[in-house]
Amino acid sequence: MDIDDIETVAVLGAGTMGHGIAELAAMAGYNVTIRDIEEEYVMDGYEQIEWSLGKLVEQGRLSEEEADEALDLVEPLVDLESAVEDADVIIEAVPERFDIKEEVFTTVDEFAPPEAIIATNTSSISITDLSEVTDRPERFCGMHFFNPPIRMPLVEVIAGDHTDAAVLDVIEALASSMNKTPVRVRKDSPGFIVNRILVPAMNEASWLIHDAEADIETVDSTMKYEVGMPMAAFQLADVVGLDVIIDVLEYIHDNLGGAYEPCPLLLEKVEAGELGQKSGQGFYSYEESRSVEIPADKTDDMVATRMLAVMANEVAKLLQEDVADLGDIDDAMMLGAGFPDGPTRIADEFGVDRLFAHLQEQFESTGHPRFEPSPRLASAAQAGGFRVETDQQTTSYETIRIEGPGDDGVAEIVLDRPHRMNSISEELLHELDDALDRLDGETSVRAIILRGAGDRAFSAGADIQSMAGSGADPIAAVELSRLGQRVFGKLEAIDVPVVAQIDGYCLGGGMELATGADFRLASERSTLGQPEHNLGLLPGWGGTQRLQHIVGLGRAKEIIFTAEHYNAKTMQDYGFINEVVDSSDLAERTREFAADLAAGPPIAQRYTKRAMHRGRESTAAGLEIESQAFGQLMSTDDLMEGFTAFMGDREPEFEGK
Ligand code: NAD
Repeated sequence: MDIDDIETVAVLGAGTMGHGIAELAAMAGYNVTIRDIEEEYVMDGYEQIEWSLGKLVEQGRLSEEEADEALDLVEPLVDLESAVEDADVIIEAVPERFDIKEEVFTTVDEFAPPEAIIATNTSSISITDLSEVTDRPERFCGMHFFNPPIRMPLVEVIAGDHTDAAVLDVIEALASSMNKTPVRVRKDSPGFIVNRILVPAMNEASWLIHDAEADIETVDSTMKYEVGMPMAAFQLADVVGLDVIIDVLEYIHDNLGGAYEPCPLLLEKVEAGELGQKSGQGFYSYEESRSVEIPADKTDDMVATRMLAVMANEVAKLLQEDVADLGDIDDAMMLGAGFPDGPTRIADEFGVDRLFAHLQEQFESTGHPRFEPSPRLASAAQAGGFRVETDQQTTSYETIRIEGPGDDGVAEIVLDRPHRMNSISEELLHELDDALDRLDGETSVRAIILRGAGDRAFSAGADIQSMAGSGADPIAAVELSRLGQRVFGKLEAIDVPVVAQIDGYCLGGGMELATGADFRLASERSTLGQPEHNLGLLPGWGGTQRLQHIVGLGRAKEIIFTAEHYNAKTMQDYGFINEVVDSSDLAERTREFAADLAAGPPIAQRYTKRAMHRGRESTAAGLEIESQAFGQLMSTDDLMEGFTAFMGDREPEFEGK
C-alpha cells in the first residue's frame, strides 16, 4: 500500500485528540469515520470538529466551502465494525490504558481489511506490546500527535519491533498530507523523543525545589528568560497536568530504571489533587486567573546548567540507544515543544563539556542515578559538541581531515596527501567545498587553521597528474578553474577567521589556497611562489585577482610574472606572510594566534570580513555594510560584554549573540 491508496481513515475515540485528528484527516480530503463508545461522546467530538472548522473560517485559514466539504467527509459512528470495515488506516485515540486499547485492537483486527494499517496515538504505552495484540504487528505503528493536533506541527512516527519500514513510510506520508511534519522514531523507546526529554526535565525542576536548591520562581525565571523556553518548567507542568507527567514518568521509570525516579514533590501534589491548571491548583494557583507571572530577573546560572545538563543527557541517551537521529531530535523538540533551537545546538552553544562536568560532579557528590552521564554525553563533550562529534562520525574524507574544534574554538582543516606534497586534486576541491559548508554552520567553530599534513609542504600546487585529463580538454579546464575559484572564494568568505599555517612548499594552487585565508603564518624554511608562467599557464584559482589585494598590484605582478620561488622572510616583507616562525614552533604559535582570534567577537568579525571584501569591488558598498553592521552590533550581547569587560579591566567572553 502507498499513500495514494489511502481513501478512508478511521479515528477511534472522539476525545481531546481524536476529534482533532479526524478534523485534520477530513481537511486533507480523506473520508473519515470517527467512533466513540456512546452516541453522546461521538456527537460531542463531531460538534467540536464543526466548531473548530468554523474558527478556521473566521481566521481566514479556510473558506466556507472548504469547511463544509471537510465536515461532509466526517461520519460519526458508535458501531466499531462499521467504523473500520472500509478503512485503509485506523488511528486509535482511546484512553491511555492497556486493557482498553487491547480490547479495541482485538476487535479492529477482526473487522478491518487485512491490508489496513493500524496506528496508535499512545503517549507512553509500548508500540510493540500493543502491536502483538493484533495478527498484523508488521502493519502496526505509533502515530503520536501533539495537543492540540490542529495547531501542533509535529507527529512522531514510531516503529514497533515488528513494524515494516514501508508502513512507516505510508504513515509519514499521511502525516505530511495532513500538513504535519513527521519525525521518525526508530525504536519503541519510552517517551519517544519529546516526552523523553521534557518529562525528566520537569522532574528535575521538581527535584531542585524538593532538595531546596532553588525555588519555583527562580527555576521558571531561568527557563524562560535565560534558557529561552516558550514556557517555563512549572508553567508547562501545570498545563500538561501533573497526573499525566507522573503517568509518563512512572512508565519510563519502570522501563528504564532509577534515573527516572519520580520526585516525591510531584507525587505529593498528585495525591493532594493539585494537578495543575485543570484542577485550579498545581505549582501555581489558577483560582483567579489562568495566567502566571514569571519574574524576568530571578535567573540563576546553576539552575540553567542543571536543566540544560539533564536535557542534554536525555538527548545523548536517545543517540546512544539509536532511537532517533540528531537532526530529528532537534526538529522534534522545536516542533513538538516549541524549543527556540534544537537541543543539540543549545547544548553545543552552552558547552557540552560544561554540562557533562556538572552532571559528573553531581553524580559523584549525591550518587543519584539521574545524574549519571551517558557515555555519549562524555564523548560529545570530548569531541567539542554533539554536532562536531556527529560530523566526525558521518564524514570521512579521502584527501582532507577535519580536526576539532577544541576547547579554544579552533578547528583545523588538514590537506591530507603528504605523499603527493598535499597537491590539490579535483577530489580535494570537492571535499574542501563540503567541509567548509559543514564548518560554516557550526557555532562551536570560532576560527580555522588550514595546514598540510607531513613536514614537506603546505601544498605544492595543483595535482597536475590527476588533472591531465581535463588539461587536454579546454572546456573541462575552464570548469576546473571555476571550481577552484568558487571553493577558494568560499574559504575567503567563511564567517570565521582562517589562518594558513605554512611549512615547506606553498606553490601555485597551494599559494592561491593560502591567499584565500585571512592570515598566514609560515616557518622560515618555507618556499612560496606562483610558477604557472613557467608552464605557459596562469594562476587559475583566483591568483590573478586575490593576491594583489594583499601585496598590492606591483608585487602581485612581480610574483606571478617572474614565477620565482620566494622565501618566507621576503614574503613577509611583501605583506603576504603575517609572521615568520621557527619550524619547530610553528604549530604552537599558529594555534595560539588562531585561539586569540577565536576569543574575539564573532559577529563583529563576520561583518568586518564582509565589509572589507565587498569594499574591494566598491568602496561605497563596503562603507554601506560597515555602517549597517555598526548599527546592528549595538544591540548584541557581545557589545555589552565587551564594554563591561573593558570597564572591569578583564578579558571579554564573547558568545556571538
Ligand atoms: P480523552 O479522554 O480526551 O478521549 C478518549 C476518548 O476515547 C473518550 O471520548 C472516550 O469516551 C473514548 N473511548 C473510550 N473507550 C473507547 C473505545 N473502546 N472506543 C472508542 N472510543 C473510546 O483522551 P485523549 O486526551 O484524547 O487521549 C487519547 C490518546 O491520545 C491517549 O492514548 C493519550 O495518551 C494520547 N495522547 C494524548 C495527548 C493529550 O495531550 N491529551 C497528547 C498526545 C497523545
